[in-house]
Amino acid sequence: MIPSDNHVHTSFSTDSTTPMEAQLLRAKALGLPSLCFTDHMDYKFPSRRRAVEFLFPVDKYFSAIQKLQEKYPDIPLRTGVELGLKRDVLPQCLALTGSHPFDFVIGSTHLVDDIDPYYPEYWEAHGETGGISRYYQVTLENVQMDFDFDVYGHLDYVLRYCPAIKAARETESVAESFFHQNFENNKEIIAEILQCLISRGKGIELNTGGLKYGLGHPNPHEAILSLYRDLGGEIITLGSDAHQEQHLAYDFAKVPEILLRCGFSCYTEFHRRRPVQFPII
Ligand SMILES: [Zn+2]
Ligand SMILES: [Zn+2]
Repeated sequence: MIPSDNHVHTSFSTDSTTPMEAQLLRAKALGLPSLCFTDHMDYKFPSRRRAVEFLFPVDKYFSAIQKLQEKYPDIPLRTGVELGLKRDVLPQCLALTGSHPFDFVIGSTHLVDDIDPYYPEYWEAHGETGGISRYYQVTLENVQMDFDFDVYGHLDYVLRYCPAIKAARETESVAESFFHQNFENNKEIIAEILQCLISRGKGIELNTGGLKYGLGHPNPHEAILSLYRDLGGEIITLGSDAHQEQHLAYDFAKVPEILLRCGFSCYTEFHRRRPVQFPII
C-alpha cells in the first residue's frame, strides 16, 4: 500500500500557488489512504527578499480543510503545519500550537542567522563546510529549546542548496563522496541533535524532497536516518514537501526499501498530535 503524504503545501503557503483541492484530487488519483496538509508558518521571516510574510490565516486554513473534508468524505484529511523554528519566535509558535487543534506539527530550520541557505549569499558568507556546520549548530539550538512539534523536518535541508552538491549532481561518485565526508565531519553534532529529539519523544521525517531536488537521497540522507534508528529513534513520518500537485508523494515507491534498509519496520502518522504506527509492508 502507498503510505499517506504528511508534508504537503498549498496556496496557504507563501511559496505555493497550488489549491488545496488540487493536492487532494491528486492524492485521490494516486490512491493515497489519507493526506496531511502542512503549510508554512515562518514567523519573522526577513522581508529582505520577499515582500510578503510566510504566514497564513489560521482560522481560514482550518475551515478550508473542514469544507474539503465535507466535500470529499472518502479521503481522511489531517490539519498540520510546518513551523519555521528560530530563537526569537518561540512565543509565537507556542501560542499557535497551544490554541489550535492541529493533528501534526513539523518543526524545521529554514533560517540560519536570518538567512535561508536557499540564497547564494549564505554560502558566500560561510563557505561550504562552514555553511553546513552552522546549519547543524542552529538546528541543535532549536531542538534544545522548548518548541512544541512532533517531528523535525528535512534535517539536512541545507544540503539541497549546497553549491558543491548542486554542481556534482551529474557525477554521482563525486556527490557520494561529498555526502560521506560531510556526514563524517558533522556526525557528532548530528548525533547530539538526534539524541535530543529522542529524549524529548520527538521524531524525524523522511522527506522525499531531496530526491526531487536531484540529491539522489531523501532529506535527511540515509546515514542520518540509520543513525536515528541506531540511537533508539522510532518515530519517522513520510512526506514529499510537494508545493505542486505533480510532486505529491514524490518517489514514494522507493520509501519502503529506504526505511527497511535504515532499520525501520514501521512508519508513523500523527492524528490529533498522537503518533499512530503502521507496518511498512
Ligand atoms: Zn521546510
Ligand atoms: Zn515544507
